[in-house]
Amino acid sequence: MKMGSFFMRASNALKGYPSSSKLLLLCTLSISGGGVVAYSESRSESEHPIIDAHVAPKKKVVVLGTGWAGTSFLKDLDASRYDVQVVSPRNYFAFTPLLPSVTCGTVEARSIVEPVRTLIKKNKGEIKYWEAECVKIDAANRKVFCKDNINNLVGRGEFSLDYDFLVLAVGSQVNTFNTPGVKENCHFLKDIEDAKRIRLSITDCFEKAVLPSLSEEERRSNLHFVVVGGGPTGVEFAAELHDYVQEDLTNLYPAVKDSVKITLIQSGDHILNTFDKRISTFAEQKFSRDGIEVQTGCRVISVSDKEITMKVKSTGEICSVPHGLIVWSTGISTIPVIRDFMEQVGQGKRRVLAIDEWLRVKGCEDVYAVGDCCTIDQRKIMDDISAIFAAADKNNSGTLTLEEFQDVMDDILLRYPQVELFMKKKHLLDFTSLWLDSQGNERKEIDIEGFKQALSHADSQMKSLPATAQVAAQQGTYLARCFNRMDQCEENPEGPRRFRGTGRHKFLPFRYKHFGQFAPLGGEQAAAELPGDWVSMGHSTQWLWYSVYASKQVSWRTRVLVISDWTRRFIFGRDSSRV
Ligand code: FAD
Ligand code: MG
Repeated sequence: MKMGSFFMRASNALKGYPSSSKLLLLCTLSISGGGVVAYSESRSESEHPIIDAHVAPKKKVVVLGTGWAGTSFLKDLDASRYDVQVVSPRNYFAFTPLLPSVTCGTVEARSIVEPVRTLIKKNKGEIKYWEAECVKIDAANRKVFCKDNINNLVGRGEFSLDYDFLVLAVGSQVNTFNTPGVKENCHFLKDIEDAKRIRLSITDCFEKAVLPSLSEEERRSNLHFVVVGGGPTGVEFAAELHDYVQEDLTNLYPAVKDSVKITLIQSGDHILNTFDKRISTFAEQKFSRDGIEVQTGCRVISVSDKEITMKVKSTGEICSVPHGLIVWSTGISTIPVIRDFMEQVGQGKRRVLAIDEWLRVKGCEDVYAVGDCCTIDQRKIMDDISAIFAAADKNNSGTLTLEEFQDVMDDILLRYPQVELFMKKKHLLDFTSLWLDSQGNERKEIDIEGFKQALSHADSQMKSLPATAQVAAQQGTYLARCFNRMDQCEENPEGPRRFRGTGRHKFLPFRYKHFGQFAPLGGEQAAAELPGDWVSMGHSTQWLWYSVYASKQVSWRTRVLVISDWTRRFIFGRDSSRV
């Protein structure tokens, strides 16, 4: 018995060490205690039938996707509690905010990716990874069907996985709005492969433009770079490209430097329209000084290999312009496998997969979704107002006293985040201010109508979260923490009171913390919207951008690579070789 527990401890001690130190530890242990090596090697499952019989089989968790949401979930999940399997067609995590830098060689592609296997190795439990794509989710039978990337023969490389819990983190695809010719003739900028293709195409455009056989008109067409979409990605790509052209390519291709043109097409009235007005104006002015043509109020109606056709919204005029390269970046849509799943769970009529505030897919047990593939369908407080009133009115008097009101308010604030936003917007210091009537007098008691009136405008503050890495990563972390405390919170629920049911919710709902957003604008200038309505623009903001993005890297390896790429670019410029 004593010997057994010694072996167990020694084996456990070994598990926590990297291979090199394991070797050392093994030597030490075998010298002092002996037998450890022999034990480790001969250990098999069947030798411990008694232990196994008492342990219930671990619940199976299948995670689809290894982007921002998937990897942050896997990083924080205590995988020793579950049988965890991950499926993703790409065996790496990509740091997407630096993708625009990859398109121009400011940063190399390999500097912003981290192998999935390196990431999952850091978890103290075992995580199995399959390089495959999920092609179908069977919600009724709790199965996912996958197809690996390697075996292309029909029927080979297909497999299915059963799950107890499914975590969807498959991201999104580019939204083309079914515009004809976009898929065939435009570049997207969603993944490493896209960024690498754009980098090659830019070089191609320049090499082609200097060939002796080309007419002046063809030269200009080849060097007309069009960016569709004035959101952060489109703007950052246009700015990167402009820098690349000005700082590197004009020196290398002096004969055609005056033929280069960059056009940014935006259907709205301003670029960066989700940012503060000051940032959007600053960006427009900077682009106009740089010679990047910004065409706002234009909608692309078709694209061919030679021309892009658009409609000016105000006049209805239709015009076509020749292009050398188009990058299409106009927002995101749902990928087919999620669309099919939505049909199965009664969400067929929706545009995006709906989840609740606990990140559970609506209409499907034990399936969770995080990141760009879903959106939180927040519950309106007005839908539950009668239930809340009934729960609060403990003495069934038909009215609430201030104490009764205070008693439910904490739960309301947790359950309906819009109430807090509403109070902030109205500069209400605390919820007793909601207790005032329309003349500003304090009420003694409140009936259902007064209660409705106090909270009637709160729902106007409901906002859906943006499809960003920040949101995806926070959701992944939140969900991992819930999974880690599943049993604990089953016994001691920590969430708000259930107004339409009994008891409390198991967990606190997900809350997003916004840490601000950046828009790099080229020429070593950036704009940033920071928490607390802080806006910062210019060169110093670019340095802030460098430090934030260096610190946000997922590993020291990528951090070192990215910083050395930036340094290399400062000293030697960008590399335009077509490799
Ligand atoms: P993704 O990161 O897209 O990951 C999806 C994962 O699912 C991938 O691993 C993919 O291989 C896998 N997958 C896809 N299909 C399947 C399938 N059928 N089966 C299994 N796995 C599948 N956000 C910011 O906050 N700040 C920024 O500066 C910023 N810049 C950006 C710049 C660019 C160019 C782009 C494209 C996006 C940027 N974003 C930024 C947005 C951010 O990248 C996304 O919001 C984020 O990637 C969403 O994370 P996700 O995990 O939901 O999806
Ligand atoms: Mg009462």
